[in-house]
Formats: sequence, structure tokens, C-alpha cells
Amino acid sequence: MKTSAEICPLCQGTGWKSVAGGVDRRVTRCDCRVQARSEALLAAARIPKRYEHCELSNFEFDGPHRGLASARMAACRFAEEYPMEHTGLLLVGSIGVGKTHLAVGIIKELVVSKHIPCLFYDYRELLKEIQNSYNDSVKATELEVLRPVFDTEVLVLDELGAVKPTEWVWDTVSLILNTRYNDNRTTIITTNFPDEPAGEPYATSGVDFGRAQRAARRETLGDRIGERMRSRLTEMCRIVKMEGEDFRQKFKSANFR
Ligand SMILES: [Zn+2]
Repeated sequence: MKTSAEICPLCQGTGWKSVAGGVDRRVTRCDCRVQARSEALLAAARIPKRYEHCELSNFEFDGPHRGLASARMAACRFAEEYPMEHTGLLLVGSIGVGKTHLAVGIIKELVVSKHIPCLFYDYRELLKEIQNSYNDSVKATELEVLRPVFDTEVLVLDELGAVKPTEWVWDTVSLILNTRYNDNRTTIITTNFPDEPAGEPYATSGVDFGRAQRAARRETLGDRIGERMRSRLTEMCRIVKMEGEDFRQKFKSANFR
């Protein structure tokens, strides 16, 4: 509750302000409410502290990072066109190339400019939270963890494939992606794994798919999430390849704030 000293001078606390000019008097949402709404949505988006500074406007794409200009362009266009165009993005590239920066930049833009509810989740963190929910001493149920992941309008799933594949991991990632796909929701995904098919068929027995087999060649997204989910992704997302050195956008952003 606001004290009288904090009552907004523009709207006197009603949340509506009148728009000057024109024949009829009209009102619109007051700036104070718009601001509060942005702040609430940003907090709800759960963007990790280390990425809080990431915006589309401070993403480096000149000089040595020229190769990233088209990825930044795709991110900006996505933010501009959403929700008219709601196909998600799959940002594929090596570690340190700035995939998470772009993904966070997009959802911040959607929250601040369009008041779209968004949610950020690290893939490993999400799977860990779901796994923890099976523990009796933890209050949250699996569905309580998953509900916001299913329901949020735009989800960022960071580092897809970063958990060692098991049957459970595959089932869980299928549940998440299929639910969002069926509900026609937008998902922005980052991954370090090349968007290529699974290699030689793995043993079907389950738990670990065999270190020796995997070590023989570089693992692909198909290996890590399964071919079926990889092809589902191509229906849900536009693929954006990000090529560049590990230049660490955070290198610059360390001085940014
Ligand atoms: Zn106001």
C-alpha cells in the first residue's frame, strides 16, 4: 500500500491519466502502473543475476564480432514482430558466443515494451528442480515446478542438452516441449550442441548411453535430446546459428554497470 506521500502526481493514485489533445477526453494507463507492471513481470521472469544486464542494445556485433550481426538482427526482429509471429528461436553456437545474452535481451524487450509474461530457466536447473520435487521433504510437486514452465507465454530454455541423457531426461524434455508445442506457446532455446542428428544408435536399455561410444565423436543435439525432440524443435523454432570465438560478451559487460 502506498502512503499518501507516494501518491502518483500524474494520476492521483487511480492508475489512469487523461490524454491531452483531441476532441474527446480519453484516459490511458498511467506511467506509474506501466512501470510497476514491467517491474513485476521482470521479477517473475527469473533472469539470473549474472545476465541481468543483458539487453539487445548492449550486444556486441561489430569488429571481431561481425559474424554475430545476423543473429542479433534475428533477435531484434523476433522481439519486434512478436506476437504476430510467434515461432520461437533456437540459438545454436559454442560456449561464450553470447547466446544467453541474446535470449535474455529478447525477453527483457518483450517484458518492458509489450508487457509479455516471460520466464527464464536453465535446463540443468529445471531438471534438478523437477527431480528434487520427487523428494518427500520438498514441498513443491512436479506439477508445481512445471506449471509456470508450461504456462508462461514466452519461455527461455538455456543450455538445452547440457544434462547427460537418460530415459528420464528424454521423457521430461519431451513433456515440456510437446506441451508448449501443443499449446502453441513460444520457446526460445539456446544450445552448445550442433543441431545435427543423433549418431550411431545407442543401447536402448537406458540409464547411461555409454561414454566410449560418445567419446568417439562430437555429440550432437540429436544425441542429447533424442531425434524426435530435435525434429519437434524445427517445428517450434527458427534456427539461428551463432558463430564466433569465445569472446565472452560479459567481458565488456563487466564494466557496463
Ligand atoms: Zn500514476
